[in-house]
Amino acid sequence: MIRVKGLKKSFGDLQVLKGINTEIGKGECVALIGPSGTGKSVFLRSMALLEKPDEGQIVINDVDITDKKININKIREKMGMVYQGYHLFSHLNVLENITLALRKIKKTKPEKANLKAKELLSMVGLVEKAESYPGQLSGGQQQRIAIARSLAMEPEILLFDEPTSALDPAMTYEVLSIIKKLTKTGMTMLIVTHEMAFAKEISDRVFYMDEGIIYEEGTPIDLFENPQKPQTQIFIRGLKLFHYTIISRDFDLIAMNAQIELFSQKHQIIPKKKYHIQLILEELLVEIMKNCYQEESPRIDISVEYSKETQALKIQIDYPSSSYNPFRAHSDEDDFDNLGILLVKNVAQACSHTYTNSTNHIHITF
Ligand code: ADP
Ligand code: MG
Repeated sequence: MIRVKGLKKSFGDLQVLKGINTEIGKGECVALIGPSGTGKSVFLRSMALLEKPDEGQIVINDVDITDKKININKIREKMGMVYQGYHLFSHLNVLENITLALRKIKKTKPEKANLKAKELLSMVGLVEKAESYPGQLSGGQQQRIAIARSLAMEPEILLFDEPTSALDPAMTYEVLSIIKKLTKTGMTMLIVTHEMAFAKEISDRVFYMDEGIIYEEGTPIDLFENPQKPQTQIFIRGLKLFHYTIISRDFDLIAMNAQIELFSQKHQIIPKKKYHIQLILEELLVEIMKNCYQEESPRIDISVEYSKETQALKIQIDYPSSSYNPFRAHSDEDDFDNLGILLVKNVAQACSHTYTNSTNHIHITF
């Protein structure tokens, strides 16, 4: 039903959409997720012809809506859009808000328009508010009215751009339950949302947007439980990353520890775990320096990965040199002076060393 081919859009030097390609079937409900600033809104706005793409096509029911000769207003009627802000007219009551476009654009008779509005109000559970003004309604109620207003035009496609991000949890639930109801009517929907549990429950497919493209897509199970690509994994697992590279034997340990301190504060890593990160790195760095980089300059890459969800920590240390495994005693006397390594082994749940492409890799989880 919808085919998007090579869709590109820049603002000045900033290329936001770098070539979106996808197909969405009739009646499909697609959740669009991803970090902010990755072009989800721009993509949705392009579909609604509120944004003019630089390149590419959007074909809906075999009609290329990016074609210059197309009647934009006719196309817009087929699309309903619901935003974070409800944009209801404050001087019109609920019934008037819902029927406005019907009366003005579709020239529907007032009685018929009102009948339709009442049906929709019943669908969103707000019949009793027909005569109220937007200012007299909660945010959740206003958003339900905004949905009813979109539906009044009988769109073929409904686009939602973070419909609940301005709402508190109870109101979010009200609105989400209406959207869920709509999925059962066979409406084709594209929903940008940060409500991951909701996206997982109601969508047929999930698009993860990043780097200006649909970076990964799949069924909700695929995408939320088994993401394949690195950026998706970081996003889905709520992974937080810390990187540090050491290129001098006299590297600034105090500065590194201060950065770990900041990283831990930012992501609420408990003090004991933060201390363990510092301890593990200090002990291993000493060993690696001593055994691998006595003469030459070191090149040690450190990354710490923290999962907000499971609170698991992973440390990876990569260092090109001859093979050196700090976890194995290299001579008898090592057994005595390697107290530092013993400490590391004691703190870690698992530690491993591998050697590939002339580079040592240490993995530690705890
Ligand atoms: P998302 O919805 O994924 O958070 P947006 O689609 O709103 O992201 O924006 C993507 C990028 O495009 C952002 O960097 C934003 O600042 C930029 N952008 C969006 N609209 C405009 C515009 N009209 N003019 C200039 N830059 C814009
Ligand atoms: Mg947005």
